[in-house]
Amino acid sequence: MSTIADNILQVSSRIQAATQAAHRDEHSVQLLAVSKTKPADALREAYAAGLRDFGENYLQEALGKQLELADLPLIWHFIGPIQSNKTRAIAEHFAWVHSVDRLKIAQRLSEQRPADLPPLNICIQVNVSGEDSKSGCTPADLPALAKAISELPRLKLRGLMAIPEPTEDRAAQDAAFAAVQHLQASLNLPLDTLSMGMSHDLESAIAMGATWVRIGTALFGARDYAQP
Ligand SMILES: *Cc1c(COP(=O)(O)O)cnc(C)c1O
Repeated sequence: MSTIADNILQVSSRIQAATQAAHRDEHSVQLLAVSKTKPADALREAYAAGLRDFGENYLQEALGKQLELADLPLIWHFIGPIQSNKTRAIAEHFAWVHSVDRLKIAQRLSEQRPADLPPLNICIQVNVSGEDSKSGCTPADLPALAKAISELPRLKLRGLMAIPEPTEDRAAQDAAFAAVQHLQASLNLPLDTLSMGMSHDLESAIAMGATWVRIGTALFGARDYAQP
């Protein structure tokens, strides 16, 4: 059985190979460890092997792990769907939010971000696959949303996040991630972040400009949603 440390080495070498293939600096892509459903001990192991940034989808679960891991200098990213009644805790307990797709949520996060913390880093989640079930703003709504969010005082708009429809077809992956990159460029805002690429498609995402890859399964193994 491979350990988390082994998995980190494997994912890091995939990232390195993908950056080389894309003629990009290896350090231009950061690894976000997606730890939803995984116990605090797994994050501790990943920290010991060098990881600092962790992505969580479920607020209560994340807050529990933050308490258990309060002795470690971890950087927490919220990457799941956001309900209005969760914005205060998210604004107080995370450094990044990758999944903002409505102005109302952004306004609440800005109002509720504590004054003693730096501005909350924000990515707008955009839906480039057009599936009804997916969260994310439409490409048509993106320019106005991005402009409005960029003007909120306690937020720092960093870029876009996307979760394209899963496919093993490299050309389809490339097309979806290229669309995200193109949308980002068309905004004409000073953005430096593209949060895209997961365990199965990080190579394509890196080829198309990803700066955060969000990796769960390839680091921590398959998720068992039956376990609490
Ligand atoms: C679960 C999740 C991931 C990680 O997916 P893997 O396929 O396990 O690497 C990445 N991003 C988001 C938003 C997720 O919810």
